[in-house]
Amino acid sequence: MKLQAGYLFPEISRRIRSFGAENPDAKIISLGIGDVTQPLAPAIVEAMKKAVVDMGSEAAFRGYGPEQGYDFLINAIIENDFNSRNIDLDRSEVFISDGAKCDTGNIQEIFGLNNVIAVTDPVYPVYVDTNVMAGRTGQANKNGQYSKIIYMPCTAENNFIPELPSPAVGRIDIIYLCFPNNPTGAVATKEILSRWVNFARDKRAIILFDAAYEAFITDPKIPHSIYEVEGAKEVAIEFRSFSKTAGFTGIRCAFTIVPKQLQAYTEDGRAVKVNSLWHRRQCTKFNGASYISQAGAAAVYTTEGKKQCRQIIDIYMANAAVIRELLTRLGYDVYGGVNAPYIWMKTPDGLSSWDFFDHLLQKANVVGTPGSGFGPSGEGYLRLSAFAKPDDVKEAMQRIAHSI
Ligand code: PLP
Repeated sequence: MKLQAGYLFPEISRRIRSFGAENPDAKIISLGIGDVTQPLAPAIVEAMKKAVVDMGSEAAFRGYGPEQGYDFLINAIIENDFNSRNIDLDRSEVFISDGAKCDTGNIQEIFGLNNVIAVTDPVYPVYVDTNVMAGRTGQANKNGQYSKIIYMPCTAENNFIPELPSPAVGRIDIIYLCFPNNPTGAVATKEILSRWVNFARDKRAIILFDAAYEAFITDPKIPHSIYEVEGAKEVAIEFRSFSKTAGFTGIRCAFTIVPKQLQAYTEDGRAVKVNSLWHRRQCTKFNGASYISQAGAAAVYTTEGKKQCRQIIDIYMANAAVIRELLTRLGYDVYGGVNAPYIWMKTPDGLSSWDFFDHLLQKANVVGTPGSGFGPSGEGYLRLSAFAKPDDVKEAMQRIAHSI
């Protein structure tokens, strides 16, 4: 009951419907919601077809799989995503799931209700809302921010990287970080991540690191995993997803890394292994991602799969470049879109996020996502997604150029 009404996307839909009713001939292009548009890579389709045939044959049929996921996928993940970056992981540290949304949302269940969480502002709303639902926060204020949550503003002044909380802020137990960031498109260097890892070690806090967009990193100096930073295994859980990496938003497969070294502390200072807590939670409440989606996910790591998924990501990143270039040419302040599929633009002339949203809808028939919907520090920004079809992106940008 404390939760603020889900305002952002319903309100966007309402405004689109109302504009569409008055302008039935308008062809609205959405650069709003972050869903993918390209079909699955052929190697993934083939692997899933084979998995379906397995399920229909007496010899290869599979019922419940291991709750943590099939070894064929866990091994491929460890080898390709982690060993290739000099990170060793044990199979028991990888938990396959049906989405990073569920994992980032469910993880808070294994921590005490008295834990204090810190989030960035703007933020992916799942981190906040799941803590509100669990009863870990107080009421929301008029800005929509809840008491007992620490908000870390991310603005152009700090390059959209949250500053380490000052000691005056008090105790912090759980820190949510997301890089490459949704919605700002910001990325964190190794040095920035090291600062956070050291902070967490110092405070005995845990970092929940959402790397759902790691596949969009183009700069070779930017870490793909927080475990590239020394000591991170002692303090960080990492979330990954095949949703954007391989177009799995409708298939559903993701994974979470909970290192065995990671310890949490009880109120009386006793160390507890987080890996066994998450294992217990998953075994109790989750029966595994489907064999078919895991077979599809494993194909992401084959030679063909890698090549084909890369081509699709390149399509999205070419969209991002088109958006960035035009907006920059038009004189806008534009952020993100280089190592992330989101472009975070400053609204012109001090317009509010919603006023600029309306302007683009009415003058260009293009839909973005108002930055204020992700938190008060998002006011005065609009998020554009690079996941639309390339022709739509080009047309949207031409229309924006002509509407200004
Ligand atoms: N984390 C972030 C930051 C996201 O933006 C999204 C999806 O938009 C997710 C997690 C959810 O991913 P999944 O489709 O694996 O549930």
